Amino acid sequence: MENIVNNLEVIHSRIDYACKNVNRDSKEVRLLLATKTVDSERINFALQQGESLVGENKVQELKQKCTAIKEMNPEVHFIGHLQSNKIKEVIKWATCIESIDRLSVAEKLSQRLTFEGKEMDIYVQVNTSFEESKFGVSPQNAIQLIKEIAKFENIHIKGLMTIGLLSSESSEVRKCYKLLRQLKEEVESLKIPNVEMKELSMGMSGDMEIAIEEGATIVRVGTAIFGERIYPDSYYWDESENISR
Ligand SMILES: *Cc1c(COP(=O)(O)O)cnc(C)c1O
Repeated sequence: MENIVNNLEVIHSRIDYACKNVNRDSKEVRLLLATKTVDSERINFALQQGESLVGENKVQELKQKCTAIKEMNPEVHFIGHLQSNKIKEVIKWATCIESIDRLSVAEKLSQRLTFEGKEMDIYVQVNTSFEESKFGVSPQNAIQLIKEIAKFENIHIKGLMTIGLLSSESSEVRKCYKLLRQLKEEVESLKIPNVEMKELSMGMSGDMEIAIEEGATIVRVGTAIFGERIYPDSYYWDESENISR
């Protein structure tokens, strides 16, 4: 637990420092606790240190975790790959879905929201690294998708999300984040009704400085706060591996 306190301190100084480097106010960048595989006690402990934004990948873990951390009243985002048959569960717990990347799932989401008389904020997930294993709409199809999703009255597009290239080559990582920012600017210039481009959710434990320099408003951090996970990230990111788990 003590590690979490220290780690959070380090993360916040990294955020402050990166902001300072590019003349941004560090209040513009929110820290999202990426909580996959992290147990509720540790999440609660991080929330007690003053954090307020949680992002979960696994639908199966939402209920238990959200119930256990309810008293801290965090904002909960869903950041995992969303399958249509899990929508009902996700909208029970999350107030924002960061990972919408195809029309079919947006359509099912809208139908379910209509049925429940609810609305939902979403970000569109873009595959800026062009890796086949990654989810996200391709950059060239993103604007068309945004225009289509914007027609659903109960879904509000508030920004974009991406998982950058996992690489030690920082110029390659930067290309991903730059691309997302340029896409945001392009979407803004189109002034599409029901579309706001407030948030750029990008940057993780290893590369948040680059993301912040390129305009991130949310950095999603797991490992650097809670420690290493047992499974490789492909375990959470590849649909083929994800389905049965
Ligand atoms: C796991 C995860 C993160 C956090 O990654 P770390 O390297 O542990 O900081 C961020 N975003 C998504 C979508 C994730 O699945």
